[in-house]
Amino acid sequence: ESQEVNPSPETPMMGQYRERKAELPEDVLLLFRLGDFYELFGEDAKEGANLLGLALTHRQGTPMCGMPAESVEGYIARLVQAGKRVAVCEQVEVPRPGKLVRREITRVITPGSLLDPGSLRSKENNFCLALVSGRDRLGVAALDLGTGEFRAGELQGEGELADLLCRLRPSEILLPGEEAEPRLFRGGNERLEEFLGKWGKPALTRHRKWAFTPEHASALLLAHFGTKSLAGFGLAGVPLALSAAGGLFHYLREELRQDLSHVQDIAPICRDDLLVVDAVAQRTLELLSAPSHGKSFLEAIDRTLTPGGGRLLRQWISEPLRDRARIHARQDAVAYWAERDRSRRALRELLPNIRDLERLLARVAQGSVSPREVGAIKDSLKPLPQIRALLPSLEEGEQRRSELEPQDDLVAEIERALVSDLPPSCREGGLFRVGFDAALDALREAAENGKKWLLEFERSERERTGLRSLKLRYHPVFGYLLEVPRGQLPNVPAEYVRRQTLANAERFTRPELQEMEQKILGAEGRARELELELFRVLRQKLCDRLPALQKVARALNEIDVVAGLAELARERGYVRPEMVEEPVVEIVDGRHPVVEQSLVGERFVPNDTYLDGLRSRLAILTGPNMAGKSTYLRQIALICLLAHAGSFVPATRAKIGILDRIFTRIGASDDLANGQSTFLVEMQETANLLRHATERSLVILDEVGRGTSTFDGLSIAWAVAEELCDRNRCLTLFATHFHELAELAQSRSAVRNLSLAVREIDGEAVYLRKVVEGVIDKSYGLQVARLAGLPERTIRRAAEVLSGMEAEEEDPQSKAMRVRRRRNEAEELPLFPDWQRSKGQEKTDGSAS
Ligand code: ADP
Repeated sequence: ESQEVNPSPETPMMGQYRERKAELPEDVLLLFRLGDFYELFGEDAKEGANLLGLALTHRQGTPMCGMPAESVEGYIARLVQAGKRVAVCEQVEVPRPGKLVRREITRVITPGSLLDPGSLRSKENNFCLALVSGRDRLGVAALDLGTGEFRAGELQGEGELADLLCRLRPSEILLPGEEAEPRLFRGGNERLEEFLGKWGKPALTRHRKWAFTPEHASALLLAHFGTKSLAGFGLAGVPLALSAAGGLFHYLREELRQDLSHVQDIAPICRDDLLVVDAVAQRTLELLSAPSHGKSFLEAIDRTLTPGGGRLLRQWISEPLRDRARIHARQDAVAYWAERDRSRRALRELLPNIRDLERLLARVAQGSVSPREVGAIKDSLKPLPQIRALLPSLEEGEQRRSELEPQDDLVAEIERALVSDLPPSCREGGLFRVGFDAALDALREAAENGKKWLLEFERSERERTGLRSLKLRYHPVFGYLLEVPRGQLPNVPAEYVRRQTLANAERFTRPELQEMEQKILGAEGRARELELELFRVLRQKLCDRLPALQKVARALNEIDVVAGLAELARERGYVRPEMVEEPVVEIVDGRHPVVEQSLVGERFVPNDTYLDGLRSRLAILTGPNMAGKSTYLRQIALICLLAHAGSFVPATRAKIGILDRIFTRIGASDDLANGQSTFLVEMQETANLLRHATERSLVILDEVGRGTSTFDGLSIAWAVAEELCDRNRCLTLFATHFHELAELAQSRSAVRNLSLAVREIDGEAVYLRKVVEGVIDKSYGLQVARLAGLPERTIRRAAEVLSGMEAEEEDPQSKAMRVRRRRNEAEELPLFPDWQRSKGQEKTDGSAS
């Protein structure tokens, strides 16, 4: 191997490098294994050195950039994050002196196949997603190489695709051949940009078109899963889903050469039995990420203790269920832990021992698991019997206990085999305990004895020759030598053979020394090889057990999630909601799960909610700015979502009907620079919800219609509210500044007016945060104006104008007329320019006309 450290264009090794490099597309960087290093050569080296900030060296005119093997994963991750694809070329046989070692490309790493634990977020999946467009549908498949999760399904259109992308957040998207990108990915789509901005745009990759044909796909998948049909995986009758799954599988396995043996199942991606929370609602409710500061909903409710549990909770939250039986099963599990404080505490003391088992098992399948990682797997499996003892018994109908098959034999075997303080790699040996393998012990003893002999030899030679400064040295090329300082050279015995000359000393050898050196080096080398072999055997045992271990990992994830939800329920006083079929939302003392936790020194004021299809379908919510309208609306949506995810909810009592969708539409802000485009977006979203909301949908509207002139806005808000109430018949909460909407209740029995109570104390508005029946006809704009520092004389003048208008409002006839007049005027051009769009101005308009 030593000739190889000197690569020149002529060496056989460089020939081998060029052959491997030619197997790859031009832009892929090739990391070439050279002993304890990986090297980049030529242009690759220049680019890599630049991106990684590493030194660029030259050997015989070839630029090189090297990185130590043990830290290569971190370098690969950085190259991939910089937008590069990286191929790894490994030595695939044991190097022998004087012979070129065989090297092959073992894997290619892209964003969607990145596995480095240091650069992945532990509580998030890293999906590679394939997308196939049909005439009116899309096929999608997503695979997380690190955990082995594989999902596929079909979508109705790009709207559903946007929802899915926000949910799964793939890091790479694969398209067949030359197929045009979905519109979503082309420039000009602000919405997607907005969503994607939060976690970066996924890389777009193209893969050979034929790999996506249904025939090819089904042959590939049937062979992998070893089944006769794919119906069991939900892939019958969905050709586009099948195409996407096949193309993705082919890409990862053939193009990127990744091992997929740990992928044992395909789960459906877009089940009809899910409560749909579309991309807009996901963002409005800040489900998975909060805009800048503050916690997301997921962060606020996450009490999981393992990475896998964190990922599963994320999935439960982004894919709430509609199936009552499944929700009940989850609630039962949460209730079990919530009712048993001692067991829950015991469980939660054990869970932190469990490492990222799913990802560790994937590394077992890929053959890349390190000794230290095997130790981590063992540590994770060790508490299984204790955890199992805390679960409900099998008679109680709990199947988790059977999935959590104890692995005591495996744990015992690993403990018997491996030392407790394991090295990160196998290279130096020292993994196996003394007493585990007799042959290994013999080799180690031989090496040990040899070293003892050396010490003894040094001592006796010193004595025999009288050279008091004689020392035994080791040199990697010359081996063991006897070193004599220059001053004592005349006394060196004649039989000493000179090997090396140093500045102040000479080094000599003796035949018996050489003989022993051969013995020691031979024993050490064979011990290392034997350890490698023993480790391979151990890894194979884990591999053979993979399906059972993966089952254990998934069961642990679920236990962590339900126990975490139970912990949350106990910590914050959540209750189990009653789930019913008919669409109702009945909440007593509901709270906002995130705001409640973020208040310091202030108590969150709980509020009730009552919505049902017949008597109370549309609630119009009014109240001054900052009174708590948005908080109230969002808390209802979040409580419904938590209930559908199987969690308990922040309330003292709740009865929640099974919903099909949660819509949220938040009116454009007063941001003048963006006013026009955000209003357009607001209207697009509103149009979408009018098309899709059903009797089972929950619709949350906050200030819709505010992004335009008063009359436009009011008329749009009015028409939308009528439509939702009369035609969609969905459950709607509508927070608005347009007090006129309260008139809807007069003609419709299913409309109720709610407002946020404000009490006036010494001319100051005090927010009570309490939702009450009825409309407040007072705006409190003046109090807010005073708080904001408007001059007192201006406030006094405004108060005069206001009282004049209120006198007019006392007369119901004139009030009704005013509203009617405004509705008629709504068709016309606004009378006032946009900047007068304030609340006070609105009233002045009314009285002036
Ligand atoms: P609005 O939508 O009416 O302008 P928000 O819902 O944004 O008002 O509420 C304003 C602030 O009031 C929130 O940031 C929150 O801190 C506080 N708040 C809202 N509701 C409550 C409540 N029920 N109890 C305590 N504080 C609340």
